[in-house]
Amino acid sequence: MEIIKVVTSNDHTKKYFLGIVGLLDSHIEACLLNLARYGYIICVSSQIGCSQKCEFCAAKNSNGTRNLSSDEIQEQIRLVVEDNPQLAAGKFQVTYMGSGEPLSNYKNVFDSIDRIRMEYPNLSKVNISTTCPSSGRYCFENTDWESYYDFLHFQYSLHFVQDRERYRYLSPRLMKISEAINYLNRVSVLINDTYKVNYILFDGLNDSREKAKELKKIMDKTENAILKISTMCEIYECSLLPSQSFDQFSESIKKMINRAEFFSSDGTDVNAGCGQFYNESIL
Ligand code: SF4
Repeated sequence: MEIIKVVTSNDHTKKYFLGIVGLLDSHIEACLLNLARYGYIICVSSQIGCSQKCEFCAAKNSNGTRNLSSDEIQEQIRLVVEDNPQLAAGKFQVTYMGSGEPLSNYKNVFDSIDRIRMEYPNLSKVNISTTCPSSGRYCFENTDWESYYDFLHFQYSLHFVQDRERYRYLSPRLMKISEAINYLNRVSVLINDTYKVNYILFDGLNDSREKAKELKKIMDKTENAILKISTMCEIYECSLLPSQSFDQFSESIKKMINRAEFFSSDGTDVNAGCGQFYNESIL
């Protein structure tokens, strides 16, 4: 695998298109973020496209879907590190937040985590962003979580407060919210971490005061989770729109929930923001 193309955002985020030159239809997307709060983060894909096909995510429109092998995941990190020698000198993080649902490909994802942990002693943390698909039960039940103590971090892509809304706008193949929260509460203790609950605001769908109250009830059932409210990154061919009520919703949340933070993606001008992988063709 090699770098086919790299584009740099106005905020210095780098978006990578990786693959075998001549086979552009199966390219893999990754990016490098440099966030003031967290430093360098390599964001990798776990699938080409995504098996979940959430309505607000460009990965649903990719040509075909398949799991990436652990080699292909590891290669993304190797190529980005080689292209940015400063990563070898200091600490960095890796996040499984590119295209793909990591827990739908958990064997290769965890195999790649074990390998990069050995290869890069300066890798400080691995983050896994998941919608908690039904297929993730085996992973939650059978992983040796204590071996990832102080090393793994989970982000739960909630986005809607009712199961039926998540089945409609994310995927029908998801655990119920209550089941996912139970697993994440348990695992976060075993890995000594606080997980994040991600909630992207969509116009008129999940951004009302009533939804904020329901969100508070869900957060009350979490143990030490942090709520992360985000703006939606725009993509082609999407029926959902970014909320016009971000400020009002955020004010409601601040009054009800202490552990909340507010976020907007970096790298959106080069399609490196949340939900923007596969938002463009490289041809
Ligand atoms: S948001 Fe995540 S799980 Fe949903 S389609 Fe995009 S990559 Fe897949």
